[in-house]
Amino acid sequence: MSETVLSLNDLHKRFGALQATRGVSLDLQEGEIHALIGPNGAGKSTLIGQIAGSLAPDQGSVHLAGREITRLSVAQRARLGLGRSFQVSSLAEPLSVMRNVMIGVQALQGHSFRFWKPVYRDESLLAPAREALERMQLLHRADTPVSELSHGERRQVEVACALALKPRALLLDEPMAGLGPEGTARLTELLEALKLEVPILLIEHDMEAVFRLADRISVLVAGSIIAHGDSVTIRQDPQVREAYLGD
Ligand code: ADP
Ligand code: MG
Repeated sequence: MSETVLSLNDLHKRFGALQATRGVSLDLQEGEIHALIGPNGAGKSTLIGQIAGSLAPDQGSVHLAGREITRLSVAQRARLGLGRSFQVSSLAEPLSVMRNVMIGVQALQGHSFRFWKPVYRDESLLAPAREALERMQLLHRADTPVSELSHGERRQVEVACALALKPRALLLDEPMAGLGPEGTARLTELLEALKLEVPILLIEHDMEAVFRLADRISVLVAGSIIAHGDSVTIRQDPQVREAYLGD
């Protein structure tokens, strides 16, 4: 029996007249990639915000490892093990890969920016950052400024930033966006290995990557889950084909 790490129950979010999520329930099990797909504007990023804590749900609850986190702050949730990457990059361009990952760890540890020790001397930041970069196969780029990285490598750094915090669950919002076939293939391979250590809720438009990676797929359309199942089931679902895959 696999263990539920993250569960969403009946999440609603309204922006003015727009009901962005309307009663979404789903869960994430140990060892899996659960993909969330759906057209633009379906409410996928809104849902990630509700899970991570940047958006307060109007209704519903979120549990992480059995504990209710619905009303906790972003930082509290992160400290309890919710890792995320953003749809829009948040890396510091002039700084090295290693510094970026270390700063991410430091921010999570709750240090005020005014009291920074020089991060490069702090082994409690260095060790987890090194380990995360190793897992993303980026250790050889540790001293390279982010501005010199390829698009694909930046995505790997973003995942490493989340990983360095040793999350129990990882939320990835369109990690393949803008990557060429090579970058996509590489990230797909890395995520496939990673899910054994940390389960991943994956929002992704690249359907080839989704069908290859996902153990389960939920389809979100206009704020509601219209279908749920394994890759084969979802690929064949007539409602999904019509609403999303363009049949
Ligand atoms: P997706 O990630 O699936 O493309 P989003 O969750 O970003 O969709 O958006 C869902 C809907 O909510 C869209 O119609 C979007 O315009 C709207 N929306 C998202 N965030 C806000 C916000 N902060 N204020 C108002 N409307 C928003
Ligand atoms: Mg989005």
